[in-house]
Amino acid sequence: MTLTPFKNEPFVDFSLPKNEQAMRQAIEQVKNQLGKSYPLVINGEAIFTEETAPSYNPAKKDQLIGTVSQADRQAIDQAIAAASEAFETWRYTPAEVRSSYLLKAAAAIRRRKFEFSAWMVLETGKSWAEADADVAEAIDFMEYYAREMLRLANPVALVPYEGEFNRQVYIPLGVGVIIPPWNFPLAIMAGMTTSAIVTGNTVLLKPSPNAPVIAAKFVELMHELGLPKGVLNYVPGRPEEIGDYMTGHPLTRFISFTGSRDVGLHIVEHANKRVPGQKWIKRVIAEMGGKDGIVVDRDADLDAAAAAIVQSAFGFQGQKCSAASRAIVHKDVYDEVVQKVVALTKSLPMGNPEDNVYVGPVIDEKAFKKVQHYIEIGKTEAKLVAGGETGPDHGFFVQPTIFIDAKTDSRLMQEEIFGPVLGIMKADSFEEAIDLFNSTEYGLTGSVFSHDEAHLAYASERMFCGNLYFNRKCTGALVGVHPFGGFNMSGTDSKTGGPDYLQLFMQAKVVSEKF
Ligand code: GLU
Repeated sequence: MTLTPFKNEPFVDFSLPKNEQAMRQAIEQVKNQLGKSYPLVINGEAIFTEETAPSYNPAKKDQLIGTVSQADRQAIDQAIAAASEAFETWRYTPAEVRSSYLLKAAAAIRRRKFEFSAWMVLETGKSWAEADADVAEAIDFMEYYAREMLRLANPVALVPYEGEFNRQVYIPLGVGVIIPPWNFPLAIMAGMTTSAIVTGNTVLLKPSPNAPVIAAKFVELMHELGLPKGVLNYVPGRPEEIGDYMTGHPLTRFISFTGSRDVGLHIVEHANKRVPGQKWIKRVIAEMGGKDGIVVDRDADLDAAAAAIVQSAFGFQGQKCSAASRAIVHKDVYDEVVQKVVALTKSLPMGNPEDNVYVGPVIDEKAFKKVQHYIEIGKTEAKLVAGGETGPDHGFFVQPTIFIDAKTDSRLMQEEIFGPVLGIMKADSFEEAIDLFNSTEYGLTGSVFSHDEAHLAYASERMFCGNLYFNRKCTGALVGVHPFGGFNMSGTDSKTGGPDYLQLFMQAKVVSEKF
């Protein structure tokens, strides 16, 4: 198969009337489909269970998006058996055929872009632009991984050896458990799922309880495209019931997880314990949290820095592991940066994402309470200068909140809040700013705003994070352009959307033939 080179999917320009109209129409169409029931999908079959779980719109707490069947342990056994059986065929299915499903899915999602965006607006409270970026990233992941698989299907160059023919090939691992987050409910979910299947594995997809309907739509699409049964099994369920059971199952070969630090660590620990009947060391790919920061040097473009801080801190209400929850500003420009950031933040409109408003709700009641709890902690540790209040109570709205004069060892500056809360710290020198940046247990994203090349070189060497940006925001990694993943408690640095990613789902085999 010959493909055109990979290109990132362009974002939709909602200022054009035709796009705005298309989005409004899609939202209306999706609204007409709310409240449906979604089954488990095991071995290509829809299974409706007695136990179900609702998914609500976080902006309108009583608007039911859908009701989702819940897998119990018996269903997991069935799904693992189906995936194991399907693996015996799928593993030998040519890479080109496997890749073609991703390309077809990318094309189908491109055609139904507004519809997928509308589902995300309603199920997770994304603004239009955030939802559209999520759709574009989902398309990118599939287009990119389809091409990557074709590349990896080529023989690896080895050192020639007289009288022997040597080959190294990559083969799949087996049955994987895919546990995606709700914050990129299409992009990360589809990226994690399709990277595992394009490499020849078969999977159980356990969607986030906060975004199961988007995942159901995706699984439905993959089956409409003819994906063989058993390759992708959809098993939403209560984490207490099925989480450990899936990851601890002897036939689970690998786990691909994106979510919080605590759950990630638990999975690593649990999966590392060998259970009877288990023949392998399980592989865990875990993308976890962040306490990301933006450093502003004294010669920086302060308007650009302030705009980037606000976007990185409050885009999708700060619910990104890449979000800037810290800003570290040189003392010479501290007051000016604070004033600009506060002014921009106060101008952000809050409201229903359906109406394309910048600030929407946080995902659920638990998040809403957690953010409020941290705002209370922040008040005792630093000075509140913006936000701090909740919004209209038909949804889980919290104002974008800023604390200044925070101390690096405070809880506000150390713990991941995963909400619209920014702490700003003052640094006496650029070097001190870098030390402050490094003073967390995480290491995912960071930015520096500076025009001093020596400072940028210093930061490039010393800032300990997986994705370091200069003179731009620290969110919005693009597939293929900014392979994404972090250090330390941010995870296993898997670099999604990059040239090293697919090999995480494969193992190398060397075949040597003597003539
Ligand atoms: N890749 C996303 C970004 O660069 C963040 C992913 C996440 O929050 O898990 O903003």
